[in-house]
Amino acid sequence: MSPAARTVEHVTCLGCGCACDDIAVVVKQDRIAETRNACALGTAWFGDGRIPQDARVNGRTTSLEQALGEAARTLEAAKRPLVYLAADLSCEAQREAVALSDRLSAMLDSLTGAAAAGVLAAQRRGRAGATLGEIRQRADVIVFWGVDPAERYPRFAARYAVEPRGLATPRGRASRTVIAVDVGAGRGPADADARVAIAVGDEVDALGVMRATVQGRVASDEARFRGSPELARRMSEGRYVTLVADGEPGTAPGDPDRAEALVTLAQALNGPTRCALVVLRGGGNRSGADAVVTWQTGFPFAVDFAPGFPTYRPHAGAAALLATGEIDAALVIGSPASIPEPLVRGLAGLPSVAIGPRASTATFQPAVAVDTGVAGIHEGGMAFRMDDVPLPLRPPLAGPPTAAGALRSLRERLGA
Ligand code: SF4
Repeated sequence: MSPAARTVEHVTCLGCGCACDDIAVVVKQDRIAETRNACALGTAWFGDGRIPQDARVNGRTTSLEQALGEAARTLEAAKRPLVYLAADLSCEAQREAVALSDRLSAMLDSLTGAAAAGVLAAQRRGRAGATLGEIRQRADVIVFWGVDPAERYPRFAARYAVEPRGLATPRGRASRTVIAVDVGAGRGPADADARVAIAVGDEVDALGVMRATVQGRVASDEARFRGSPELARRMSEGRYVTLVADGEPGTAPGDPDRAEALVTLAQALNGPTRCALVVLRGGGNRSGADAVVTWQTGFPFAVDFAPGFPTYRPHAGAAALLATGEIDAALVIGSPASIPEPLVRGLAGLPSVAIGPRASTATFQPAVAVDTGVAGIHEGGMAFRMDDVPLPLRPPLAGPPTAAGALRSLRERLGA
């Protein structure tokens, strides 16, 4: 290693919801030169650590003070503002965003609005879950439902659910049975011990047949459910079953009732055995946004402060309000690249303020843009893993202003 290099150990990667906290980052001449233990997705997320460091008003570079002053004026003039939480923020920055939403009487929403079905199903039914640590120690039957974690959660199998040796799985992979459920094009891991194929249109019914089989209520012999009752029986015989599904939009094949059907199947399995449902979440501290907004307001996303107190509007969040033209200004916080395309289109015609990593590159052309550091790379604080375990961030680099700091300054300008 060159004399100018330094290594920062135990860095937490937020490239996906696995939040691996065993990354050793080698820094040379203020750039990231190496990310030991990180997968390819994580290495790409860290990059070399260089990001834009600009503050702009109407496309022109200005001082941070002037940009925040203009941001305060833009937001204060709004009658129906939106505050939107995107990715790559620490919990501290997310907490500032809640305070700003309260001050502005705004609608506060986040990336979770696009993955609401799973949250709402869990709120209606309750969810049988577990930490990834418990699954690592105990799970002996792991069912991947329409998802191969190797694609978007590359170290999930190695760190948590398939390969590690645990208290109840002393031989690691050899102690576990892995079952892939292929739902249309959503395929489970290629190296599974067994697989079941289900058509997208039959998915929710198949989950219902499985639940009924677990509960001993029905045995369907319909050809389209072939394999489902058998899978349900196999799961019932496991000592500790884990049902893994993707909670992020875009990959989930199909039916809006799917989330509830998975939740209720996991619950039913807790009759004959123990079962935990693991919902895979994307990176950038998405789970942290849910946790912070919940502990601050009582609700995880789509919280409306307009009535003067936090009001839950899960079916009338950012996407719905932008589509109907109700929003007249927006404060977008976090990485603009993580925002779903329909929302970007809705933001494009509005006066908006963007504060976050690479805000100055936002395609919706905000009136005010303030670049900040990336949580976990330039900014410390806390973040949540996909199983709601909080982890400290150990930023290997110094960088532009922190998002939490810029938001605090904006809040103070607004007199809150
Ligand atoms: S699995 Fe996810 S959190 Fe872990 S190193 Fe890869 S991208 Fe980062």
